[in-house]
Amino acid sequence: MNVQLPVQAGPWHNLPKIELHVHLEGGFSLEQVAHLAKAAGEPLPKPLDELYDFTDLDSFLSLLDWWCGLVRNPEQASGLAYDFAKFLSTDNVVYAEVIVNPTHWRGLKRPDLLQAVSDGFDQAQADGFCDCRISPSLLRQQSAEEAMELVEELDHGRPKRVVALSIDGNQAVPSAGNARFITAFKAARESGLGTTAHAGESSGPEGVRSALDELGVQRIDHGVRAVEDPALLRRLAEEQITLNVCLSSNTALLYHDINRHPLPRLLEASVPVTINTDDPMLLATTMSREIELATSLCRLGINEVVAIMHQAATAAFCEPRRSNELHSLIDQWATNIKRHHEHPSKDSTS
Ligand SMILES: [Zn+2]
Repeated sequence: MNVQLPVQAGPWHNLPKIELHVHLEGGFSLEQVAHLAKAAGEPLPKPLDELYDFTDLDSFLSLLDWWCGLVRNPEQASGLAYDFAKFLSTDNVVYAEVIVNPTHWRGLKRPDLLQAVSDGFDQAQADGFCDCRISPSLLRQQSAEEAMELVEELDHGRPKRVVALSIDGNQAVPSAGNARFITAFKAARESGLGTTAHAGESSGPEGVRSALDELGVQRIDHGVRAVEDPALLRRLAEEQITLNVCLSSNTALLYHDINRHPLPRLLEASVPVTINTDDPMLLATTMSREIELATSLCRLGINEVVAIMHQAATAAFCEPRRSNELHSLIDQWATNIKRHHEHPSKDSTS
């Protein structure tokens, strides 16, 4: 399948990048959606060039349901995973933890989906592309039983690339409370999985508190609305809870003006943050683009960007040896870029 890659070289292109908050469901190109619809014999719900026009989280989530439902066999899922890893590599993303929410993929059984995605990522890494790990995700509307079913499946046998349990979806729906997921997240931790939750986006600071206190998660996806509660901000800094922030996504769905985004206040409060794309194809963004947005919004220099990338390596759920390798890759880039700035004629790594 031919994927159009909207990546342009920019100042951060060569930086080895780590992404911890990105959804495979948001990584379909329009060409891939058209191809899958044709293969499934389904008409497009609207013209292709309007398909990614959405204004709220619910219409966005139902679109995901539609195109993920076009995937009807493991080969298609493997192919999408492979293409996605390849896409990330074109922006020099070297490591990514990719969220996969099986509830969107109605054409495949859950274990088959995760195995197929893992196979696609294996092949991609063997071909020199990004090392992608998998965070299977629960949907907010699922029941306690459905949540435990997923965790038990993962506990009994999971592809090695599965590193975490996640939960995503609209945190503002009436049934979005965390109480019924407590057992599933506890079991996930006992099974050796990392844990992360979407919170503090469509929920306020109370969503972040609940994810920490009830689910015991180690990281928060988004979490930006923690700025509305100074005591919570202090707690995030003290407990070193990493927020996986997505500037373009939050601007599209939450703040509608990047200058209203609270990333500068999160950094000021010394909350650990990482920079991420969330849904790169849908938002027409890349990690390089998100870093550029962050540097201009928060007036960051190379040292601050390098520190954010190190934070991602520290917060990654991979094995410690791999995390150390990621730290080294970032350090090598930083050393080269500084040498280039001191002796511009000797190197050209920028
Ligand atoms: Zn997300």
